[in-house]
Amino acid sequence: MDRRPTSRDADAVTRVVIVGGGTAGWMAATALSRFFGSSTCSITLVESDAIGTVGVGEATIPPIVGFNSMMGIPEEEFMRETRATYKTAIEFVGWGSPNSRYMHPFGAFGQDFHGIPFHQLWYSARSRQKSGQFDEYSMSAAAARAGRFAKPGRNEQTPLAHIGYAFHFDATLYAAYLRRRAEHQGVKRQEGRIVKVHRNGESGDVASVELEDGTGIDGDIFLDCSGFRGLLIEEALETGYEDWSQWLPMDRALAMPTSNVGALHPHTRATAHAAGWQWRIPLQHRTGNGHVFCSSYMDADEAERILMENVDGEALAEPRLLKFSTGMRKKAWNHNVISLGLSSGFIEPLESTSIHLIQQGVLRFVALFPERRINPAERDEYNANLRQTYEYVRDFVIMHYKANRREDSEFWRAMQAMEVPDSLQHRLDLWQVHGRIFPKEADIFVTPSWAAVLFGQEVWPERPDQVVDGLVVEHVDKALDDIHTAYRGTAARLPTHEEYLRKIGAWSDRADARPD
Ligand code: FAD
Repeated sequence: MDRRPTSRDADAVTRVVIVGGGTAGWMAATALSRFFGSSTCSITLVESDAIGTVGVGEATIPPIVGFNSMMGIPEEEFMRETRATYKTAIEFVGWGSPNSRYMHPFGAFGQDFHGIPFHQLWYSARSRQKSGQFDEYSMSAAAARAGRFAKPGRNEQTPLAHIGYAFHFDATLYAAYLRRRAEHQGVKRQEGRIVKVHRNGESGDVASVELEDGTGIDGDIFLDCSGFRGLLIEEALETGYEDWSQWLPMDRALAMPTSNVGALHPHTRATAHAAGWQWRIPLQHRTGNGHVFCSSYMDADEAERILMENVDGEALAEPRLLKFSTGMRKKAWNHNVISLGLSSGFIEPLESTSIHLIQQGVLRFVALFPERRINPAERDEYNANLRQTYEYVRDFVIMHYKANRREDSEFWRAMQAMEVPDSLQHRLDLWQVHGRIFPKEADIFVTPSWAAVLFGQEVWPERPDQVVDGLVVEHVDKALDDIHTAYRGTAARLPTHEEYLRKIGAWSDRADARPD
């Protein structure tokens, strides 16, 4: 069907203006130009080189693979251009007790048995001392531990079919790569700093933005991708911010790249410290590191000292301090402004979810694209969906803190004692008795993820679900043994992570030179 309005009228949505050229701006520009093209609407992206981007944001979750593929992006080319590596898991160090470690891997754990969730089988075997650690029953975790990788096999009967993956990449290079594609698809880039936002006196909608040199850019709809400040959604429309820092009080991060040391890991590592945690993200040409901390419990000097003491390679730049507060905009879509990325809200990077939230917002907006006058029902649908997704991610991240087992600092004790949102408390109550998990429609993290973290941090339910009682225990124990052996054996035969990247042509020649 031809979507083009027959003639330009006041209600037609034919001029899209994207404010900001970070990851959010260029993901939106790529998707809109791919789906609608220049025949449906003009797309102008305004960004200011002088202001720059946040530039961190290197770890992702599996739906990014689908997003790139929807955009027609060849995976190996994308990986070379962004110096990307594969990610199969996050390893959490010191989140249970200070010396504990566990993996939160992508993909499934083992296999469900006659419809009974695998984690219930594992828990019953554990109560008979017949099982290893929970993450030993994940193909992705086995690959991560072995430092090896291959993409999922097509044959469902083989262990490799159970591997799940996402990417680590250089966010600045990703935005630059997307920019080339979006411009090729007809997006017009306008360099300049926006100094004024003009609103329609009658409707209150944003009518245009004005640059320092007086250039005006009119639009029917505006995507605010301007970062934390929310140039349109907050500074112009005063939408309001819902603060979630009572549950997620981290408000600072020190980010610093180092040189790579040793073999290339196919997983992110999140190590708990006295008042926060540290990320380690391996890229082809360098390692991304950062210490996320809570300024009410630790000052920046102390946070920097801890970061410097706990990195593996040689520092390639000074640590950079970033400030944030966790929460979300009261409405992600207000009037004719849709906020995406940091302007719509922020949940600290523990589970690498921010780029996914951009993806979710962009694709939902594409699905609700207003051809003519904005339909309030569509706007409400967008806001409700984004809110649910944000809240579920928030709850999942809070759970890591609430379920810590550390007694060694005031910060971790306060996290254990905090009251959590009702929605999370309900899930924890369900877990506490029989280890039951009921994912919701907008959940990004489903049963295997909740089980991985809760078991990983030793939150033991009172007993396994009764449905397991009907099974023959010898069969269950044998199935677990077989899975464990198959995953470990398969992982040991995979190529190393770097060998695999080179073999499929995903390795950048420039990664062998010194980092940029
Ligand atoms: P920005 O990168 O800030 O871009 C804003 C854009 O707006 C820039 O182009 C700027 O020039 C433009 N702009 C602003 N004001 C004006 C103006 N007046 N005129 C013209 N242009 C203007 N996400 C993940 O998924 N995984 C991670 O591992 C991860 N780690 C993170 C770690 C930290 C410490 C932080 C803070 C964030 C992390 N994120 C992570 C989030 C991720 O960095 C962001 O979601 C992502 O980079 C998107 O940023 P953005 O495009 O919304 O904003």
